[in-house]
Formats: sequence, C-alpha cells, structure tokens
Amino acid sequence: MSDLAARLLRQQLSDLVPYESARRLGGDGEIWLNANENPYSHSYELDDSRFGRYPEFQPPELIDRYAAYAGVSNQQLLATRGADEGIELLIRTFCEPQQDKVIICPPTYGMYAISARTNLVDVVNVPLDDDYQVDVDGVLNNISANMDSVKLVFVCSPNNPTGHDMQPAKLRQLLEALKDQALVVVDEAYIEFSAQPSVLSWLSEFPNLVVLRTLSKAFALAGIRCGFTLANEAVIQQLAKVIAPYPVPEPVAQVAIQALSDDNLKAVAAEVAGLNALRAEFAATMQELTDVFPSSGNYVLFRVPNALACMKAMADAGIILRNQSKQLTLQNCIRVTIGTEQEMARTTSALQAYFKEAM
Ligand code: PMP
Repeated sequence: MSDLAARLLRQQLSDLVPYESARRLGGDGEIWLNANENPYSHSYELDDSRFGRYPEFQPPELIDRYAAYAGVSNQQLLATRGADEGIELLIRTFCEPQQDKVIICPPTYGMYAISARTNLVDVVNVPLDDDYQVDVDGVLNNISANMDSVKLVFVCSPNNPTGHDMQPAKLRQLLEALKDQALVVVDEAYIEFSAQPSVLSWLSEFPNLVVLRTLSKAFALAGIRCGFTLANEAVIQQLAKVIAPYPVPEPVAQVAIQALSDDNLKAVAAEVAGLNALRAEFAATMQELTDVFPSSGNYVLFRVPNALACMKAMADAGIILRNQSKQLTLQNCIRVTIGTEQEMARTTSALQAYFKEAM
C-alpha cells in the first residue's frame, strides 16, 4: 500500500519535510510554551440549528466585525482557515508552479517556504540583516536578478521567532519600490502584542500591500483555525476565486463573531497587556543570564550554551519549549511562549537552574 502511494507521489515532493509544528513534534510535559499559543480561554455559545446547511462563503457578521476591528472595508478582507491558509492561497493564486518565485527573509516563520515548495514555487532567501531587519536592497537586487519572476515577498512583523518589529520606513521603501511589480505580504499574526501600529492604514497608498492576521494569538483561538487576509479589493477578488467554496465552518464563524464583540475586544486588550508585562519581566530575568532578543510578540527568544541539553533539562522539568537551532543564525536559540504567571515562574526557575548547571 505505502509503496503505491510513494510511487504516485508528485516527484518534486519526494524529499519534502513537513512543517514541524509544535503539535507534530509533541513531547511530554505539563507546561506547553512551544507554539506561541495564548494561555487564556473564554466561553462561547454555539447554535447548532444551521449545522445541516453549508455555511456562508464569507459570514457577513464575521466580516463586518473584523473589518471594523481592523479599520478596513468589507471588500478588503478574506476570512481563511488560519493565516496559514492565507499564505498558501496567496502562493496558489499568484505564483505559476515551476516558474515564479517567492522571497522570504530568514530566520522567519517556516510555512512560507513549505507552502511555496508544495506548490512547486521556488524560494529565494534574503536573510534579515545584522539588526534582524529586512534587507531592502537585498530583496530588490534579487528581484532584478530573477527577471521579474518574484511575485510575493513575505515579511513577518513582529517576526517569528526573533520578535523584532520591522522598521516602518523599510517596509514602505519595499512597498514603494515594488508597487508595479510584486505583492509585499506583511504577516501581522502577532501585531496585537506590538507597540508598533499595523501597516493596514497604508492600504490606500499601496495596491501591492497584503496583510495577514489571525485569531490564534491575541484572541486565544488557535483551536478554531480562523485568520484573515487583508488587501485592496482587486487582490481579494483574485484570492476569492481560488479559495475553497466554504472556507469558514459555521461553528468557527459563530465563535469568531463572539470573540469580536466589544466586550471581548476589551478583555483581549487587557490580557495582551498582562502577557506583555510578563514578557518584560521574563526578558529582564533572562537578560541576567544570557543574550535575549527584544520581542514584540507573545514569545521571547534567547541563546543558551547548548540548546539540546537545555530542551532536555526543561522537558525533565515538564516544560516544553521550542528549539530554533535549525534556523539561519539561530544555533542554540530557544523560544519561550509567554504563558500564565505560574507557568512563567516555573519556567524561569527551571531555566535559572539549567544555566547554573551549564555555566
Ligand atoms: N504567521 C506566523 C508568523 C505564525 O507564527 C503563525 C502561527 N504560528 C501563523 C502565521 C499561522 O497562524 P494561524 O494559526 O492563523 O494559521
């Protein structure tokens, strides 16, 4: 059986390594700080009377509420199965397989490259510069060198896993230079945790701006898989041609609509402020021990003497973190998601014990 599947598999995918999501990597532990999830949970009600029917293509109330929250018009928005579906949809809509390319700026989120590869789209790596900022000249030079085959440039801000905000001036420069040429996709999955404003207010200036958002992080709804792709109407219309017929399941829409109520938005803002305070405290403690990356997300990256040994010591203490050593320039770097106060207290003391042992 497996022999048949292996024989039938698309040739170009034979050596594909799937994205090592925190869930797939698994592990034993009671404190899970490896997936940039949010430790809070809210209660939601479900009305099952419509479950026998296909849902709306884009549930109107969901679109109304997210558009209001994001400050865009209803036509500038597409709801998807997480921001991950937005990434894949952009590639499937705009990149010709085996011909077009995407640029990514590593170290960064892994799904841009994996979605490109599974769609037979080449990935050009333009590493972040020494300050972990997008290398604008590098991107533009690569676009010229690739004779206009680059359709999408993915930039993550705040960047996962380093935590940096991309400087607005650099993003603007990129958008301006590529106005007639390529889409610049700014992944704002973690924007609510950042002090820097969203680039969404620039939509009217840039026909090539695309923004990715999600309810998985600040809204603590990773389990419902709901994200948004925001861009000018012309871009959204093309994406809407390609997306699956019923991309937002009815229960997902119902929960997401409740999550975007005025009361819940206030609760989310308060929780984000609390998580940011814990982030500042955790970063300050870690700074006494090691190099810590500044973070505008719900996570903190830092260097350890030996990442495997640290991961093991933490797992022995029941704490699961994310080793980022495979990422460009991030050898022996570990990322900790900001959890509850208790989780952070236990994590901090386990890390202090590890450093004491290791130094
Ligand atoms: N972008 C970034 C930068 C992420 O870190 C993640 C999730 N880890 C995503 C997008 C995907 O989010 P979603 O859960 O909405 O698919």
